[in-house]
Amino acid sequence: MKMKTHPKAKTVYIMIGLAMTAGILAAGNISASEGAESPSETARMTSTIHWLGHDSFRIDGDGIVIYIDPYKITDGPKSDLILITHDHKDHASPEDVAKIQHSETTIVAASAAAAKFQGRIQTVKPGDKLNIKGISIEAVPAYNTNKFRSPGVPFHPQESGYVGYILTVNGIRIYHAGDTDAIPEMKSVHCDVALLPVSGIYVMTAEEAATAAAMIHTKIVIPMHVGKGTGSLEDAERLKTISSVPVTILPME
Ligand SMILES: [Zn+2]
Repeated sequence: MKMKTHPKAKTVYIMIGLAMTAGILAAGNISASEGAESPSETARMTSTIHWLGHDSFRIDGDGIVIYIDPYKITDGPKSDLILITHDHKDHASPEDVAKIQHSETTIVAASAAAAKFQGRIQTVKPGDKLNIKGISIEAVPAYNTNKFRSPGVPFHPQESGYVGYILTVNGIRIYHAGDTDAIPEMKSVHCDVALLPVSGIYVMTAEEAATAAAMIHTKIVIPMHVGKGTGSLEDAERLKTISSVPVTILPME
């Protein structure tokens, strides 16, 4: 008799055990995803980031003001650090840099763009890692795979050495993709916030940005490359509806 009841009892215990384990795992998953998507967590991760339209951002760290690709900006706080992704005029704009540059400003620029500026310039190529004024910065590849100026000539050729940047500000890792398509190197990007172009034509479409978002290890995505000429906010909204990663559309300042 014992031999018949024990196996059944064991089975029941195992089933209860499995159910409890599944419950714990489910609870863990729920709290983890709520953590990434909750309004307070999103606000924490984006609190330093100001979108100035197109690919322009100002990031306000503790005691440091950083701009990326300032373009058609109104006067703002002076910069400690300016990052330039490539030499196209909507990214490397001397007249906009002049609005926020002072004698102590450091400009980090892809080699092709450096000659457009004066002052403290640090040139970078994809793969470079540097630390400037306490900010760790990594230059990563940015190029086209299927957007062509003329047959066989991409708008952003890989051999031009254009870049995106990964920088850590107040403990948050921010990836600015630059002008790029969804490229395999994105699989090795780990960040909290990914700034991704969505306009198409010269860069990723919203659909391609959704593919990129799924490749990148990121908690949230902020769309860019719209709002000042190319693309429209509808592209950003479209990414939000199709992306498997939470998307936050920042107000344009
Ligand atoms: Zn460009």
